[in-house]
Amino acid sequence: MKREELKEQFYDEIAKCNRCGFCLPVCPVYAVKGTEWATPRGRNAIIRAVIEGKIDWTPEMEGSLFRCTGCRACTQACLPSVETNEGILAGRMCLVDRSQYPKVMDRVAEALENDFNISGDPNEERSSWTEFMRDVPEHAYQKETAQVIYFVGCVAAFFPLVQKIPQAFVQVLDKAEVDFTTLGGEEWCCGFPLIQAGMAEKMEKLVEHNQEKIREVGAETVVFACPSCYHTWKERYKTDAELLHATQFMERLIDQEKITFNNGFHKTVTYHDPCDLGRNSGIYEAPRDVLKRIPGLKLVELESNRELAICCGGGGDLEMIDPELSAAIAQRKIEEIQRTGAEVVVTSCQQCVRTIAGTARKRKINLKVMDITELVLEAMGS
Ligand code: SF4
Ligand code: SF4
Repeated sequence: MKREELKEQFYDEIAKCNRCGFCLPVCPVYAVKGTEWATPRGRNAIIRAVIEGKIDWTPEMEGSLFRCTGCRACTQACLPSVETNEGILAGRMCLVDRSQYPKVMDRVAEALENDFNISGDPNEERSSWTEFMRDVPEHAYQKETAQVIYFVGCVAAFFPLVQKIPQAFVQVLDKAEVDFTTLGGEEWCCGFPLIQAGMAEKMEKLVEHNQEKIREVGAETVVFACPSCYHTWKERYKTDAELLHATQFMERLIDQEKITFNNGFHKTVTYHDPCDLGRNSGIYEAPRDVLKRIPGLKLVELESNRELAICCGGGGDLEMIDPELSAAIAQRKIEEIQRTGAEVVVTSCQQCVRTIAGTARKRKINLKVMDITELVLEAMGS
């Protein structure tokens, strides 16, 4: 993206920033770094000054613009609702044009170009999570036609720590007698990491392929346990199919009495709102409604919840770009969770599970982290 395009599309938005600083306390990056370049205000100021021609891009700006989780807490706290993250993503595109970006992004772009997934493994291995399951049906969750497609997403498909999510969710769908399929090796990355990398123009091939697969299967509904896939589809895809997050779909199945809870879940639980599901997609009540309908479960809220929820540190490709910063943000999240006294933290995002559980494990903190699909499966019982 050129400076002129940046000006045309984003100047008015960025210029709304009056430098009041109300966004500072809610920005998870600023909370750890404590410097002006890490504030939403500071990032807006950089982009504005570049647009106005008062300064030119410098290599150091990469450090500021590529260290944002995309959580949009700043916009929530901001009186004129400045969409700082939109400016940051556009700024990243400018930096990519100038070859000033974290080179780990090249590895991601290459993996998506050649293998259609972020891990760089052969895409046929996208269903390898089924190998560790018992009683897998003959079709191994890949049928030619189905009413519902479960779009698994790269992280849940390839990263061992969270493969328990697709393993749990297909069992929930099976028990609820849903006519569903996954796409296996024909599922390609949704393109979310490329948007975050400032390389959105490279995602077209992925979008077209996935849209075509939905048409071929003839599905009426596509369901996502990954909030980032869900958000990307909602914002960037064109399809007649209904798009639902897993929490919305499970809420519907409970209403239809297709999900019933034989076991219940007899523990105190707190819920972490994933940024791409909550603030970025507006879904706060579906997960809470699912949890509240589970017998025995006691829900206690985090100090900052719903619109004010604090990011876990896993968003916006930050974990790839600066894993230490991502872990420091996760540490703050863990401390907030511990203050609730809950026995379990549940969320509805594989990346939040990875970030929180991974940091807790590395720092030897005893914390039980679950995705809502796992919790529902356990509460359903046999
Ligand atoms: S982004 Fe909003 S809250 Fe932050 S300094 Fe600018 S106007 Fe104030
Ligand atoms: S989107 Fe989140 S991480 Fe990025 S500047 Fe705003 S509050 Fe900070």
